[in-house]
Amino acid sequence: MAQSYDAIVVGAGVSGTATAYHLKKGGMKRVLLIDREPGVANGPTRDSAAVVRMHYSEPVLVRMAMESLDMFANMKELLGKDGGFKRKGWFLALPPDMVEAAERNITMQRGLGLKCGLLTERETAEKAPWLNTEGVGGLLYEPDSGYADPVQTTEAFHFAFENLGGESRFRTPCRSLTRDRNRITGIMLDDGPIEAGIVVNAAGPWSKFLAATAELELQLRAVREQDAIWQVRPNRPMPECSFSTAIEAAYCRALGDGRFILGLGYPKPYFDVDPYNYKRTMDDDFRMLAFEKNAKRLPNLEGAKFMSAYAALYDITPDFYPFVGPRAGLEGYADFCGGSGHGFKIAPGLSRHLSQWLLDGRTDDEFADLSYDRIAKGKRFGGLGGNRG
Ligand SMILES: Cc1cc2nc3c(=O)[nH]c(=O)nc-3n(C[C@H](O)[C@H](O)[C@H](O)COP(=O)(O)OP(=O)(O)OC[C@H]3O[C@@H](n4cnc5c(N)ncnc54)[C@H](O)[C@@H]3O)c2cc1C
Repeated sequence: MAQSYDAIVVGAGVSGTATAYHLKKGGMKRVLLIDREPGVANGPTRDSAAVVRMHYSEPVLVRMAMESLDMFANMKELLGKDGGFKRKGWFLALPPDMVEAAERNITMQRGLGLKCGLLTERETAEKAPWLNTEGVGGLLYEPDSGYADPVQTTEAFHFAFENLGGESRFRTPCRSLTRDRNRITGIMLDDGPIEAGIVVNAAGPWSKFLAATAELELQLRAVREQDAIWQVRPNRPMPECSFSTAIEAAYCRALGDGRFILGLGYPKPYFDVDPYNYKRTMDDDFRMLAFEKNAKRLPNLEGAKFMSAYAALYDITPDFYPFVGPRAGLEGYADFCGGSGHGFKIAPGLSRHLSQWLLDGRTDDEFADLSYDRIAKGKRFGGLGGNRG
């Protein structure tokens, strides 16, 4: 006889692991988390820059980012282990033509209780002495944001999940979903089927292939994303926080000990790849491009030493907002994928609301719009913040 669980979560990145934890915490009895890798956070989560900022133009994502921030900041008390969150602040340098849109976001975000705003010239000089302000229309600041350790965060959720009696299986590829008409009934492993009341597809860039095994459409692209690590020369002030520039479309994230992650922001070319077989090493032109764009704003990068670089994957949805939730007319299934390059910072909040939705059978209208059903409804999220600002 097939084994049976109340819920199976496929994918032990930050999204799946946090969902498994919240399902268990919410009272679900038998929850199984599986991943084909040897442990949690072995996919794109491991390579995340893990910048934690709140700036979105859609209130639902501001809410999710704020709830997540609360969890990042209190992880030790909530989960029993720290997720490596550092409350160092987040800065965004804006070109003059983006200031108005940012101000609209700030008004909405303050209404939701977020501390954020544009700095005056004096405040900029005080808080961001490392910034080349030439051509900057405004410097947005979120004092409570920062960055976390993506692996430690996922491990903390996993630790708490197992402490609550959740079960995990690693080195366990899910070969397919099993389906009976309008119901997903479980999953198929190499050693046979497992039944489940609900299967959560949190397989990151591979979610589309898993969905296809049950003839479910999932509009998701897998694209390469590169990051490089540089060591700055001693005694050169740099932002010991997360910094983005929408002028050059680049970002810099402190790693500690004078090391910084440098990456490119939107707009940039996105190269669609086969997530089962893609180039994991840096492209030659990326190294200097990411360096030069960042160095325009952060002149103290001059003379820095290149340390290493890597390429990982973004799972991108048509509107760059994630797919989270069950689908109308299909029982026993929920999507949780499409982080679109900004999925780490919102995963704790999204997973909590998704779990509540699956436990209660309902959610609020705003959150329900994150379901894949929005594709059929023609609903698209937009604006500044979803990695396109
Ligand atoms: C370089 C980079 C920088 C980033 N920077 C940031 C940032 O600064 N801030 C931010 O908020 N976000 C950032 N992101 C995005 C964020 O990291 C991701 O959105 C998030 O980590 C995705 O987590 P996930 O759990 O949804 O998926 P993943 O981490 O992709 O996990 C999916 C898991 O599913 C498993 N899996 C897949 N198929 C199967 C199968 N058939 N059977 C079993 N297991 C399977 C995989 O092994 C994998 O472990 C960045 C991403 C990258 C790549």
